[in-house]
Amino acid sequence: MNKVKTTCPYCGVGCGVIASLSEEGKIVVTGDPDHPANFGNLCSKGAALADTVGYDGRLLYPEVDGETENWLNALNLVADKLSSAVRNHGPGSVAFYVSGQLLTEDYYVANKLMKGFIGSGNIDTNSRLCMSSAVAGYKRAFGSDTVPCSYEDLECAKLIILTGSNTAWCHPVLFQRIKKAKRNNPDLTIVVVDPRKTASVDIADVHLAIKAGTDHVLFNGLLTYLDGSTEKNNKFISNNTEGFDAAIAEAKESAGDIEKVASFCGLSKESIENFFRLFARTERVVTVYSQGINQWSNGTDRVNSIINCHLITGRIGRPGMGPFSFTGQPNAMGGREVGGLSNQLAAHMALENKDHQNLVQTFWQSPYIAKQEGLKAVDLFKAVHEGKIKVLWIMATNPAVSLPDTEFVREALEKCEFVVVSDCVRETDTTKYADVLLPGQTWGERDGTVTNSERRITRQRSFLPIPGDAKPDWWIISEVAKRMGFAEKFNYEEPRDIFIEHAALSGHKNNGRRDFDISLFSDVSYRGYDDLEPVQWPVNRKSPEGTERMFVDGLFFTPSKKAQFITVKAKTPASNVNENYPLVLNTGRIRDQWHTMTRTGKSAILSAHIIEPYVELHPDDAHQFKVENNSLVTVSSDKAEVIVRAVVSDSQQKGNVFVPIHWSHQFASKAGVGSLVGNNCDPVSGQPEFKYTPVKIKTYNAKWFGFLLSRRKLDIKNATYWSSSKGHGMWRYELAGDESAEDWAACARDLLCTKSDDVNWVEYFDQASLRYRAARIENDHLESCIFIGPDLNLPERDWLAKLFDNDQLEEADRISLLTGKPTDPKADSGRVICACFGVGINTIKQCIVENKLTTAEEIGELLKAGTNCGSCVPELKQLLSE
Ligand code: SF4
Repeated sequence: MNKVKTTCPYCGVGCGVIASLSEEGKIVVTGDPDHPANFGNLCSKGAALADTVGYDGRLLYPEVDGETENWLNALNLVADKLSSAVRNHGPGSVAFYVSGQLLTEDYYVANKLMKGFIGSGNIDTNSRLCMSSAVAGYKRAFGSDTVPCSYEDLECAKLIILTGSNTAWCHPVLFQRIKKAKRNNPDLTIVVVDPRKTASVDIADVHLAIKAGTDHVLFNGLLTYLDGSTEKNNKFISNNTEGFDAAIAEAKESAGDIEKVASFCGLSKESIENFFRLFARTERVVTVYSQGINQWSNGTDRVNSIINCHLITGRIGRPGMGPFSFTGQPNAMGGREVGGLSNQLAAHMALENKDHQNLVQTFWQSPYIAKQEGLKAVDLFKAVHEGKIKVLWIMATNPAVSLPDTEFVREALEKCEFVVVSDCVRETDTTKYADVLLPGQTWGERDGTVTNSERRITRQRSFLPIPGDAKPDWWIISEVAKRMGFAEKFNYEEPRDIFIEHAALSGHKNNGRRDFDISLFSDVSYRGYDDLEPVQWPVNRKSPEGTERMFVDGLFFTPSKKAQFITVKAKTPASNVNENYPLVLNTGRIRDQWHTMTRTGKSAILSAHIIEPYVELHPDDAHQFKVENNSLVTVSSDKAEVIVRAVVSDSQQKGNVFVPIHWSHQFASKAGVGSLVGNNCDPVSGQPEFKYTPVKIKTYNAKWFGFLLSRRKLDIKNATYWSSSKGHGMWRYELAGDESAEDWAACARDLLCTKSDDVNWVEYFDQASLRYRAARIENDHLESCIFIGPDLNLPERDWLAKLFDNDQLEEADRISLLTGKPTDPKADSGRVICACFGVGINTIKQCIVENKLTTAEEIGELLKAGTNCGSCVPELKQLLSE
């Protein structure tokens, strides 16, 4: 294999990577120094990509009702079911639920089939959950879904506001770029607006720890302040915008004076005043926002409250300024471009616009065109539950975990007449509901394009052999379309054939009327497509090198060509805390995991940072609700309950808790946070309110606690609580149970699937303390070990995990196994902080103390920690401060 340039499949930063083979024949993935998104840098997830390309757990062949089937029969069946549902119940009786993981070419074909040939708008995407409010906000303000900025603006800015964005963990390479910009330009001020003290606060000059959900009042207050300042750009407002008077009147009404804003946001008057003054006097300001702004039942208004502040000052379309939405998924932007959301048409055209309907239908020469918007994600699954959707095709996503109210979603999937799932993973929480499973390709096998948060299109190239009978998604969809009678219009042989059609449609009757235009590529050759360099759209005859910044001429894509101020009311969340549910649940990502862990969960390096699902809560709340750090707790809403580990930290505000989104039933017994969240959605964007769910918290009084480490992956049955994580050469399981076993030895053997007469089994039971330990040693190496006790006083796991690296156990190791303590205390390096170099917390703490270290750089010099991707530097600083 030669070096292959491709794109990281995780977040919307869209880092370029180079895949190659080492001399030992191993796949190596490094950052692409020439890619303009990352210039060679990668975060911990990108750096561990090579760890995740194994074929274990893959779906390799089509299956029908759980039995392997050939492609021909499986495709015929799917096409028959779709056709007969449309014939008997109309086009609205079928739906596709797709994903920001799909490549643009896959997305294009899926959208074309549904909107042009089935004739329904019922295709929606999991991007609905992460950035549809950002889309709606841009469209309301600019008349188009246009991201105005480039990453380079982060380097040109004098003020960067990160609001509702834990950039350090969710877009780490951009965080590194901002950090470097700050190093190079000490005048750059960084403000983080976030109720939590996240890792992003590490580089903040100012942290505005607002009350959860008050950001739109903060920005309404800022708008009011700017109205009275010399920075109000009257010329821009009158020449380039509309709606100012109404927006400012409502902002004044809802936000009031600085004192009122401060009290609403839970901050001091001085901090608000300083922030407003800073914004007003700094011309080059970029406001970055992400899920913390989008995931509200008024997320679109929140987005517009930010954009309004850029419009009143005219700070848009010039270097170092603008409202900048960072997208979550690798190809959320590509999905937007082809109309992957149920309320969009292809090529950024508007579904409700008759001219656009005609234009797309004529271009596609399709029998139909969707004339009204289809169902948005939450409504789509409601319709499935009500039996209105007869055939549902889910592509490359896991809605049984990621949607809100997942119990309802699971019921809907159970009830649905016919569910098709195309995925690369065999066992997910969603695949078990499938009547038909279709094996898709995954990163390293797929070929096509993706678009990142700065409108940059980059090739994703294949470099791995295709396992089993896995096929590209565009091929699967096209084959189904052919069998539904649309062969002529889905006769693609290569992704390039789709790309040129997509490019041609973007330029069709465009002439600058629409923002999305990549018509320069409408006749790109196969060779040209293969060699396509990263480029920012629009890219057409007028801008053949692409377009760094939008709206430089002050003209927008509204009918009047003027940007729109939007009236933003101060709205409270859809449901509020009360005496039964007194805490606010916030959800989000962690540093080293991605989505439902189907890929990152395979990596020992990435799993080492945070090994269990957890809830983070403030010490005062821990005290009030009698929760101890590291104990197991239940977190419940009026929908469901999860069991997770408690992490007591003053990073949380009192009254707020945080639970990450990643854990599915594949990795924990009961930790899917989506089950707690209600179905309250933004009326404009349809985005669910993941950032505010009233919950309560209680200690989970288990009768026993334990953990086991095993070379084999186990199917845990007799523990009420379990969570699993991948280690080096083994799996780690944390356990707890409601009922004490009468015979611990039998219980342990059961968990480890071993027999009572196993000669390799050594065990120790302390009757007085009710502590049980056992290990299975095969051919002198450790096969598995288990530790159980009546409380949380169990041995540290990390040094035990290291014993699995040894080919042969020493006598001292065997003794350690039964005493539960390492013979050398230094052997316990502790929880991994630096994923890139596997440096544990104990090693770092010891090094700090012994060498009297005061900076993260000094730790890096001695231990290398923090010197690669830098994602752990905020935690290194935290350890130094402790
Ligand atoms: Fe991948 Fe990390 Fe870059 Fe995101 S920041 S694209 S996860 S390497």
